[in-house]
Amino acid sequence: AELTELLKERIRDIPDYPKPGILFKDITPLLADQATFGMAVSALAARYQASGARAGDADQGAVTVDKVVGIEARGFILAAPVAYRLGAGFVPVRKKGKLPYHTHETTYDLEYGTATLEVHQDAFTPGDRVLIVDDVLATGGTVRATIDLVERAEAQVVGIAILLELAFLQGRDRFSGHDLHVLLTV
Ligand code: IMP
Repeated sequence: AELTELLKERIRDIPDYPKPGILFKDITPLLADQATFGMAVSALAARYQASGARAGDADQGAVTVDKVVGIEARGFILAAPVAYRLGAGFVPVRKKGKLPYHTHETTYDLEYGTATLEVHQDAFTPGDRVLIVDDVLATGGTVRATIDLVERAEAQVVGIAILLELAFLQGRDRFSGHDLHVLLTV
């Protein structure tokens, strides 16, 4: 409950951004506050953290996540420290044209038009246990596309960890079979 209050206080509503009629949730005040940022990262990682394991430990036999995927761009900010915390690797999923090596790509519908996300073809080893991290879950299209990219590489999505869920958009219905962990729902 305390974390929920801290997160709420530090997520700012920006009306009509990036377009008229959109109420944008701005997490930069949360990121800038060291205590809240640290607690948010810990809470995103906690469910997947082997008891007692720390980043850098030699004995990580109980760690259940091999790779943490961050989605461009705010997802990177949260996923990288979560990966460090779990003793896992970090994999970026990026907008088309940003990754230098061979990629898998997937195109999905937005409210107006489409978007394409890419991941490096060699980012995962088949069977990798993968945690997807992002800042905001809205319509769910971005996470759905990321799940598809992970599965195309024959890796396994073991969880999806999200800072803020906009529940009215019902994004979670697009991946109902998966373990979803949300810190704050509005
Ligand atoms: P979705 O695909 O509609 O679920 O949109 C989620 C993606 O858009 C995430 O990668 C978010 O970073 C971004 N996004 C959507 N709405 C917001 C918002 O209000 N604040 C910050 N990011 C948002």
